[in-house]
Amino acid sequence: GAQLIDGKAIAAEKRKAMMSRIESMKQQGFVPGLAVILVGENPASMSYVKGKIRDCKEVGIYSELIRFPDTVTEERLLAEIAELNENKEIHGILVQLPLPNQISEQKVIQAIRPEKDVDGFHPINVGRLVTKQEGFVSCTPAGIIEMLKAIDVPVAGKHVVVVGRSNIVGKPASLLFLNLDATVTICHSKTKPLSQYTQQADILIAAAGREGLIHAEDIKPGAIVIDVGMNRNAAGKLVGDVSFEEVKEKAGFITPVPGGVGPMTRVMLLENTLIAADRQNKKSSL
Ligand code: NAD
Repeated sequence: GAQLIDGKAIAAEKRKAMMSRIESMKQQGFVPGLAVILVGENPASMSYVKGKIRDCKEVGIYSELIRFPDTVTEERLLAEIAELNENKEIHGILVQLPLPNQISEQKVIQAIRPEKDVDGFHPINVGRLVTKQEGFVSCTPAGIIEMLKAIDVPVAGKHVVVVGRSNIVGKPASLLFLNLDATVTICHSKTKPLSQYTQQADILIAAAGREGLIHAEDIKPGAIVIDVGMNRNAAGKLVGDVSFEEVKEKAGFITPVPGGVGPMTRVMLLENTLIAADRQNKKSSL
């Protein structure tokens, strides 16, 4: 059977390492800070945001939660971001998506200073990823790479098949792997037949948001299977895109859901905030 990749444990290790980094930053009189903007009362968004604030507290990152009613105007939101862009105590700005219809998500994302865009959604940071320059990378794909580092799996020359092409997961994951010299195939809802591609993967990234999309017959024996999906099954249980019980008998490595990619995503937001703080601190002391 496959070896389990314990995202929860890897994330806990990373948090521990961060805490001592933050402690020494604080001794130099410098506290990294994250601002999280939440619009409305979407229960999923509220729980994500709560988790992000809790994570910051745990490692010693200063955080601010800024809430608006779902009737807020785009102008008001942009004004808030403009203020946070200038705020010296805030190094990372995150706007929880989705936003209500009267607000353009693209406009909001582009209002964030790229240096504070810890979600890595600003087109400048996306462009930096495409051209392999230093910037910020979306937390979920960044977390996947960290996981593979933690289990010492080299990526160069491997065939990585990514199922999903969203701006948040599939596309940036594909680019990260390409930048690490993998051979990358990107699949999506129009790919036919999907299994013909997934069967060739040394590393398979399942990020479609479809329960039971990947079965044992869809993978190569010994493949590394990273399950990004977060779906509710008929019983209300959280499950991935991969049929875990059957695939784990054939894979070399596999991530569980929950306890795999999810905790890595969360820890990478903290990591990006620290990187942002470091870079801004260096600049201001020049
Ligand atoms: P999305 O809906 O924006 O994108 C899904 C992608 O999958 C699309 O590109 C689509 O073309 C493709 N797709 C859909 N059905 C397919 C099929 N049958 N065959 C092949 N491709 C198909 O979703 P997203 O934001 O990229 O998220 C994907 C999944 O990952 C969701 O379940 C989401 O909840 C989960 N997610 C998890 C984390 C985490 O931290 N664990 C973070 C982000 C997203």
